[in-house]
Amino acid sequence: MSIIYLKRGKEESLRRYHPWIFSGAIHHIDGEPAEGDLVRVFTSENEFIACGHWQIGSIAVRILTFVDEPIDAAFWQRRLSTALDVRCGIGVAGNPENDTYRLVHGEGDNLPGLVIDIYGQTAVVQAHSVGMHVCREEIAKALKVVMGDAVQNIFYKSETTLPFKAELGQENGFLLGGSPDDVAMENGLRFHIDWLRGQKTGFFVDQRDNRSLLEHYSRGRAVLNMFCYTGGFSVYAMRGGARLVHSVDSSAKAVDLVNENVELNFPGDQRHEAYAEDAFKFLQQMDKDAYDLIILDPPAFAKHKDALRNALKGYTRLNSRAFEKIRSGGILFTFSCSQAVSKDQFRMAVFTAAAQSGRNVRILHQLHQPADHPINIYHPEGEYLKGLVLYVE
Ligand code: SAH
Repeated sequence: MSIIYLKRGKEESLRRYHPWIFSGAIHHIDGEPAEGDLVRVFTSENEFIACGHWQIGSIAVRILTFVDEPIDAAFWQRRLSTALDVRCGIGVAGNPENDTYRLVHGEGDNLPGLVIDIYGQTAVVQAHSVGMHVCREEIAKALKVVMGDAVQNIFYKSETTLPFKAELGQENGFLLGGSPDDVAMENGLRFHIDWLRGQKTGFFVDQRDNRSLLEHYSRGRAVLNMFCYTGGFSVYAMRGGARLVHSVDSSAKAVDLVNENVELNFPGDQRHEAYAEDAFKFLQQMDKDAYDLIILDPPAFAKHKDALRNALKGYTRLNSRAFEKIRSGGILFTFSCSQAVSKDQFRMAVFTAAAQSGRNVRILHQLHQPADHPINIYHPEGEYLKGLVLYVE
């Protein structure tokens, strides 16, 4: 196994358990690691400090352990069973009303580059690093051991999440089982999960708690779910007693999915309609006062730091449209899932939009990612989802 020697002083962040090593911290390498290989990391004092996956790029190593231990079947089982203990401990796993949850959230579960979402009896495994891709079979085996009969299918979905430079030609497919049953339950509501073609692992598991909160505010309201994708917020709003629910997404496929999910939970219910339209155009053209509960959950406007300024402008533009049009006494759920945008920056973008509209706006709730998407305290970069619930006078 190759050994990475750090420059003097560059072990400081590792002593504080930060799980990345940047390429500039490396003094020299003993060996010629290929991308995805395991490497051992030593300080300039020749002392072992970590072991992780080698990567090509500015993050050179993603750390799996700070202990000198083998990365073998027992290692993967220990990490996965700890992750499962957390989900059982917080009540998202082992709950008959909810079989949709994130079992592994990358650095948040000390497994940088790995995501595992559970949908009923199917686990969807997603690698965001070549190292995790290389280990996929081992991870799948450990997952089966840890989950037992609760998992019958393991779908590997990394076609679009692996670095393209690696040229792995990765295809999505089942590593175990292959059941076509794609219905999972979130807080007692049922959803088709398109793990084959859908975004992320097929569903946005991270909005579960925020959807529950929305349900609580839906009674009697006219709801606009903008950027609806599979319609999670729409279905919760319907259960919450909304008067009408309109779902909008620019993708026609998403509109089919939301219609299917509404039909699955509320067959024949006339309160719902879905539109394949651009968000900005829809907001521009819709009547003033048409809605008194609006959800804005756009895709990440800034995937990288350099796109930040434009992203903030985008959030302001989007939110200002909603402030202009929402009925008095309306409630706005507004989100950003851009990791590069901080909580304060997002709040400032929404503040600017509110000020432009000149309306009185109160913050009712400040939202974030749920407990099954934990943030490793030593890795604040893991915080990505933020939202505000606003009362618009
Ligand atoms: N709220 C969803 C997740 C939203 S993901 C949920 O709870 O599951 C973002 C969605 O925005 C995607 O489905 C994408 O198709 C859609 N989208 C992207 N750009 C858009 C635009 N300009 N107008 C409308 N929808 C857009």
